[in-house]
Amino acid sequence: MFGTSGVRGQFGTDVTVDLAVVIGRAVVADGAERVVIGRDPRTTGPVLRDALSAGVRESGGDVIDCGMVATPTLARAVAWRDADVGVMITASHNPPEDNGIKLWTPSGMAFDEARRGRIAELVEADEYAPADWDAVGTETAWSDATARHRDAIVDAVDPVEELSVVVDVGNGAGGITAGALRALGCSVETLNAEPDGRFPSRPSEPTEEACGTLQAHVAATDADLGIAHDGDSDRMMVVDETGQFPAGDALLALFARGAAGDGDVVAAPLNTSLAVDDVLAEIGGSLVRTRVGDVFVAERAREDDVVFGGEPSGAWIWPDETLAPDGPLAAAKLAALVDREGPLSELLAELPSYPLRRESIEVEGKRNLMETVATRAHEEYDGVESLDGVRVEREDGWFLVRASGTQPLVRITAEGRTEAATAELYDEARALVEDAIEG
Ligand code: MG
Repeated sequence: MFGTSGVRGQFGTDVTVDLAVVIGRAVVADGAERVVIGRDPRTTGPVLRDALSAGVRESGGDVIDCGMVATPTLARAVAWRDADVGVMITASHNPPEDNGIKLWTPSGMAFDEARRGRIAELVEADEYAPADWDAVGTETAWSDATARHRDAIVDAVDPVEELSVVVDVGNGAGGITAGALRALGCSVETLNAEPDGRFPSRPSEPTEEACGTLQAHVAATDADLGIAHDGDSDRMMVVDETGQFPAGDALLALFARGAAGDGDVVAAPLNTSLAVDDVLAEIGGSLVRTRVGDVFVAERAREDDVVFGGEPSGAWIWPDETLAPDGPLAAAKLAALVDREGPLSELLAELPSYPLRRESIEVEGKRNLMETVATRAHEEYDGVESLDGVRVEREDGWFLVRASGTQPLVRITAEGRTEAATAELYDEARALVEDAIEG
C-alpha cells in the first residue's frame, strides 16, 4: 500500500476518509506525539486532512495544521515545530481526481522503506487505543510556515542583481516561489498562480508538453528564466530565455557543477546521463548512483560526503538546507546562478550532451523475466550493477533494463558517447530482453 511516494491514488476508492483516519491512528501508535499536517490545493484535501487529524487526536496525539503549503514547506515544518512526524496530503503531479498521503521525518526526509512498512502493518491491523475522554489531542493552526520557508530560502541563496523571471505555478501550492524570488531581488511575473485543485490551466506534471504557454511567454518577452512547478511544488523544471525546455539531466549537471568542488559527491539515480559524470570529473567531484526515485536519492544525500542530490524528473536536494526535494529553493538557486553567470541557454550549451534512447517493451511476468535478464547480463558482461534493474556500464556508455513499477513493461535506456555507440548499446540491451522472453 505504501510505495516510495506514500499512499497515492483515486480519491474515494484508493484514498478514502476511512484510510486517512486509520493512518492518523497508526502514526500515533508508531510513537508520534506531535504531528504537523499540510495539504496541496486538491478539492479532496480538506476532508482528508480532517479525517487524518481526527485519527491522530482520537489516539491522543496533537496536530499542528499548516493549511495549504508546498510539500517542502511541510517537510521543513516538522523540525521547526518540534514535531515527530509530518503528513502531507498530496498526489503531487497526478490528475485532480487523485490524492495521497506522504509521511515525513524531522530531518525533512520522507519515511524510508522500513518505516513505511511499519505504518502499513499498523494500518492493516487497525488495532488502536483511543485516548481517554480527557486526553484526546489538540489541534492548532500555524499560518507562518510559508513565510518561514521563504526566509530560509532567502538566507540560503545569494541576492540577485537584475533578473526577470516568469513562474508558472500550475494552480498548485508553489506561490512561495514568487515571494522568495522577489525577496532576492528578481522581478517576477506569475502564470496560473491561483491555487485550484482542478488544475484547469495545464496538467500538474511540469513536462515540456505541459509547459507550452510558459515557453511561449518567456520567448516572447524579455524574461531571463521560466520556472514551472508540479501541484505540490517539490519539483521544479525550467524554460531558458529563448523558450527552450532543457532535459532534466542538463539541469542536474548544472546544479551538480554549482554545488560540488574537489572531492565532493553528488547523488543521482542510475539512469542519469554521462554528462553529469563528465561535468563532475572536470572539477574533481564524483557521481554516486542510487535506485530510481527521489526517496533513494535523499537517503544517499543524507550521508556527509554528498553536497547535492538530483533526479532528472525535477527533484533537487541540497542536503545542507533540507533532505526534501525543494522546488522553490531550486528556483532561487537557479535564479542566482543565471544572474551571476547566465544567460541560461549559454550555460546549458556549454554542457556535454550525448545521444540517449529510451523505449519500453510489453512483457508478461516482468519479475521472472528480469531475473533471467540479470543472470544473462552477469554471464556476458563485466560492470553489471543490479541495484535497481540491470545496468551495464562500458567504456563508451551504458544501458539499463528495468521493470516498470506499475505497468507490464520493461524499459530500456541506452546512452553512448556517439550515435553509433548508443545504437549498439540499445541493440545489445534489447537482445538481452528478447533472449529472456524466448528463454
Ligand atoms: Mg510533487
